[in-house]
Amino acid sequence: MTHDPIHLLTLPRGTNALHPTLILDGDVALLVDTGLPNTLDQLSAELARFGVTPDHLTAVLITHHDIDHIGNLKALKTLNPQMSVITSEGEVDFVEGKVQAQKLQDIASGALVIAEDQKAWAETLTRVFPTLSTPVDDVVQDGDVLTIADGIEVIATPGHTLGHISLYHHATQTLITGDALNLNQGQLNGPNPRMTHDLELAKASLKKLAAYPIQRILCFHGGLIEGKNLQQLLDKLSQ
Ligand SMILES: [Zn+2]
Repeated sequence: MTHDPIHLLTLPRGTNALHPTLILDGDVALLVDTGLPNTLDQLSAELARFGVTPDHLTAVLITHHDIDHIGNLKALKTLNPQMSVITSEGEVDFVEGKVQAQKLQDIASGALVIAEDQKAWAETLTRVFPTLSTPVDDVVQDGDVLTIADGIEVIATPGHTLGHISLYHHATQTLITGDALNLNQGQLNGPNPRMTHDLELAKASLKKLAAYPIQRILCFHGGLIEGKNLQQLLDKLSQ
């Protein structure tokens, strides 16, 4: 494919940038994940690099409801009510604010123990999460194919959260993995065990991803990795 419709965005955040993905096809513009709350200026500047403004977005797909993924969603929807909000069945109630964020539930149950240096983060989450509720317009499930850029397949990748989804672009053999995978200084890792709701499930999801031919992977945390051995690498990480 000479024309590459998949664009990695970079939202600076200390030493670890966040990476939503923009998929462009003619007049259609699909954004995958949105960054932290109150960073719409950053996001808009990144969209502008590709000639897109927030009110041009056709749809936003949310891989899962963590705060760094839904942060700008409500602001975008307010600016652009036409824009369709898409996520999986398992994430809808969280995105719509009908149930408490999984991380907050895990903190409350003791499944997620908060270290001293995470206390401020947990407090922010408690305070901010209820303010981010946004209605979902379309629910996708495993195997659905979005009719953009010759087809983007939805892959259910539960584990990090129970409704987590990833995307696969067949034409360029590109995986967009949300937080199912992380890239740290060029090294591909599975989901951070401490921040993963169900690690066994997360590993099974990696096994599932390893079945696809993969030229490149876009991680929300860490960005782009390309290469020949990504499938084998994924298979290893799923053990
Ligand atoms: Zn994240």
